[in-house]
Amino acid sequence: MSPDLSETKPWLWLQWGISIGRNIHMTSHTVLRYSLSALLGLSATSWAQTPTQLAPQQQIPGVYKAQIGQTRVIALFDGVVALKRSELAQISPEQVQESLTGRYVPETKDGLQTAVNAFLIDTGREQVLVDTGTANCFPGDLGHVAENLRYAGYRTEDIDAVVLTHGHPDHMCGLLSTDGKPIYANAQVWLDKAELQYWQSPQNKRKAPKKFAFLFDLANKSLQPYLQSQRVHTFSAGTTLPAGLQVLPTPGHTIGHSAFVLPSENERDNLMLWGDVVHYHSVQLQHPEATYEIDQDYAQSVASRRKVLQQAAARGWWVAGAHMPFPGLGHVRPQGQGYEWVASEFSPLPASAALPQP
Ligand SMILES: [Zn+2]
Repeated sequence: MSPDLSETKPWLWLQWGISIGRNIHMTSHTVLRYSLSALLGLSATSWAQTPTQLAPQQQIPGVYKAQIGQTRVIALFDGVVALKRSELAQISPEQVQESLTGRYVPETKDGLQTAVNAFLIDTGREQVLVDTGTANCFPGDLGHVAENLRYAGYRTEDIDAVVLTHGHPDHMCGLLSTDGKPIYANAQVWLDKAELQYWQSPQNKRKAPKKFAFLFDLANKSLQPYLQSQRVHTFSAGTTLPAGLQVLPTPGHTIGHSAFVLPSENERDNLMLWGDVVHYHSVQLQHPEATYEIDQDYAQSVASRRKVLQQAAARGWWVAGAHMPFPGLGHVRPQGQGYEWVASEFSPLPASAALPQP
């Protein structure tokens, strides 16, 4: 069944181009601390050189590093968007209410809080970014992936490859800086073949509801400089990607939506990066049959969701979810007719798991 997209009102068509000032201004509190340090004879420079100097009211950087098998996996927070309950389909409002009860998901009049995450896979030899966040394609406090990558200790030019789950702007806009320059100077970019063809087709743009035309524009704009420098590559089922990522086709949300599996020596340390298989974690794990109304093909999206949930739960794999609560790392386990999320514990990085040197 295909949704009637003309009836949808998701956050994705918010007007592109609203640039949010994200300059961190020195607060009066910080100024006071500088002055006090001067009075006490401390060097103001030493304060200034602390890269993580934060005012008390600022959130800490959205970075979390995990060691999964032999691989360092780094969750990078882009920000949050609000998804309305009414944008869920194939589920009744009563069932939605029942799912949400007791789950304490922050909710405003704009909708349920939904994280946007990207993930860096660092094998020690390759640094591979899976998705790139929204950059400045959405209004609100989003677009922090590149900044959080730097907080994590990496430079954007360290990234060898960017692997994309699909061509939507919250995954692909971050290929560019706010002034439209390609951020990842040395990266090869990978996208599913059918997905790339879909977004590149002027015919598909004409056929799509008018309000979705901008999605085509954003997809092409984000890829354009990388295409120009011949750094865009396509994959399909069976392709082994950088870092050894395996493609797990999961169409439905978009025509060529892809999840990835990072295999490990110990199968329980396999990591599944499932992209947009789940948008409403508080509802769709319990009710995999519930779809997001922007999904291009409802039946396919349900089948893909059931497939990855079943696989991840049965095999005990790690999961990294693009829209799971930050850091979006955890496991799923069967619960009733559906599944339940088991969030990862904050863990130290074991010294014994030092990465191999390049
Ligand atoms: Zn998304």
